[in-house]
Amino acid sequence: MSGFDDIPALLQERRTNNLYRQRRIVESPQARLITVNGRELLNLCSNDYLGLASDERVQQAFIDGAKKWGVGSGASHLVAGHTRAHHDLEEQLAAFTGRARALLFSSGYAANLGVINGLLGSRDAVFEDKLNHASLLDGGLLSRAHFKRFRHTDYDQLAGQLNALKDSGGRKLVVSDGVFSMDGDLCNLDALTRVAKQNNAWVMIDDAHGFGVIGDEGEGIVGADRCDSVQVLMGTLGKAFGTHGAFVAGSEELIETLIQQARTFIYTTALPSAVAVATTASLRIVRSEHWRREKLQSLIAQFRDGAGELGLSMLPSDTPIQPVLLGSETRALEVAGRLEDLGVLVVAIRPPTVPPGTARIRITLTANHTEADINHLLNALKQAVQ
Ligand SMILES: *Cc1c(COP(=O)(O)O)cnc(C)c1O
Repeated sequence: MSGFDDIPALLQERRTNNLYRQRRIVESPQARLITVNGRELLNLCSNDYLGLASDERVQQAFIDGAKKWGVGSGASHLVAGHTRAHHDLEEQLAAFTGRARALLFSSGYAANLGVINGLLGSRDAVFEDKLNHASLLDGGLLSRAHFKRFRHTDYDQLAGQLNALKDSGGRKLVVSDGVFSMDGDLCNLDALTRVAKQNNAWVMIDDAHGFGVIGDEGEGIVGADRCDSVQVLMGTLGKAFGTHGAFVAGSEELIETLIQQARTFIYTTALPSAVAVATTASLRIVRSEHWRREKLQSLIAQFRDGAGELGLSMLPSDTPIQPVLLGSETRALEVAGRLEDLGVLVVAIRPPTVPPGTARIRITLTANHTEADINHLLNALKQAVQ
């Protein structure tokens, strides 16, 4: 007995319980239509909210960046991998968020692990919304800080948890998604920052799904006016920006601390400079092409009106993330399967990603979709949920 002998049975059990995860092989670029298994499908599960992943200008910047800087960055940021291209992008992200500094990470997952671990140790405490992204929860657990989760957006419960530790002496960090990735709703920043302030806690917001989509220039849910109440602001570049990586923005002292202490920043190879060059191009588009956000909002409204008429079980979301609750894993898989047969690609989201009994399909809309696409989606949904 090696202890690993149960692996085949565990895999089989996952299959039996409809929890088995499988990749599909995509044969085309990220766009409103993608090719899977030789079939062209309407893509309603991309986080490319503004349609920039395949934008010609962003692609060209990437090519130019690769010509200028090569492909690999060759070393970590603290060794010899931090180029002028990375540095310029960090300065522009700092200006964009209205913060003193910004720091690039190779992914959002790495940023969240690195920030929480860079700031907290075993004498400290971290407080997280139950629906926070897995990377935030993992960051909290890995830090060995006292780890508390509060019910989704229940800031009264958070206040009680903070108050219970008021004499503990250590650092307290409250962590939340800005836009929640499985439900599409927002945290209540006013309430959250008020409770944190009353209890001398810092606030970290992960606005992976808000950047690009929310705010006049796509600055997300945390404006520049909240520098003092949201001390740590994190965003990813692989979603609305259409490229790859992530950043953390905040004070001079925060960023210097992370450079010294965030292990996922220190012990990893820097992002390719070409990614930074492409992101600089995409940031310019994010800020200036307001029509992308306006179009997205109008598609969201069109979808919600139609889904309401169909009597679907929707969540209160005004963001591009539009879940349709279906309950069981079987039902979610069945509806996703029927939609795929009808040429529409959505994903079934099942436990443990969401709580048991709340399996769903998650539809994500992008500025690349058209009114006709939404009508097609609604027609397909009408048939699929029968
Ligand atoms: C996607 C996402 C991440 C992870 O970002 P990656 O760059 O994909 O690793 C972190 N937090 C939230 C809320 C996300 O949606």
